[in-house]
Amino acid sequence: MSDHLIVSHYLEPMKLIFATNNDHKVEEIRSVTGNKFEIITMKEAGIHIDIPEPHDSLEANASEKSRTIYQMTGTNCFSEDTGLEVESLNGEPGVKSARYAGEDKSFDKNIDKLLANLENKENRKARFRTVISLIINGEEIQFEGIANGKIIPARKGGKGFGYDPVFIPEGADKTFAEMSLEEKNKYSHRSKATTKLIAFLKSLYINNGN
Ligand code: IMP
Repeated sequence: MSDHLIVSHYLEPMKLIFATNNDHKVEEIRSVTGNKFEIITMKEAGIHIDIPEPHDSLEANASEKSRTIYQMTGTNCFSEDTGLEVESLNGEPGVKSARYAGEDKSFDKNIDKLLANLENKENRKARFRTVISLIINGEEIQFEGIANGKIIPARKGGKGFGYDPVFIPEGADKTFAEMSLEEKNKYSHRSKATTKLIAFLKSLYINNGN
């Protein structure tokens, strides 16, 4: 049997628009899905908008993004929203992770602010949480992925994006920014949520008896 996920009778991999403008996220998610289905970016679909994230939960923001794209295109699609939740900061920056240090969404300034806020804290436990919102044939379903770990006091590594240089996942001895994509996928919130998404899509395929 083909490794492709078939949802039509035309033996083609299923197409899904990924509602994001973040190339790092696209690369990470494609590295988990492989050729199981075809992920089309907003740019590739000819959609050039920045979808707002106005809500106070990852779930609501993820929903807003996937519903916006589904309404515009009528094509099956998904989005994801991710936050870094730090225990001693009462779950902050959380849903505000992208804009923690201001509207310019600077990765560097966000890390500076995080390290400053943790300067006198002993508890440096943190977790990344990803929520994927899938819209398939007009129905929404969400998948969560969590990576537990800790924030270190100074940056290490040059790979990845966002808070990667200061986050070490549980069970590892280096930051996400010191890992290859394959290594990050062993621990990451995004790869865990994506694995659940793939399992769900596969179960649809099996239950449809195709
Ligand atoms: P978004 O709102 O889902 O685009 O992401 C919020 C912010 O979280 C981003 O601006 C990044 O700074 C950070 N972020 C999301 N995913 C990751 C990750 O995998 N590693 C490091 N930082 C991330």
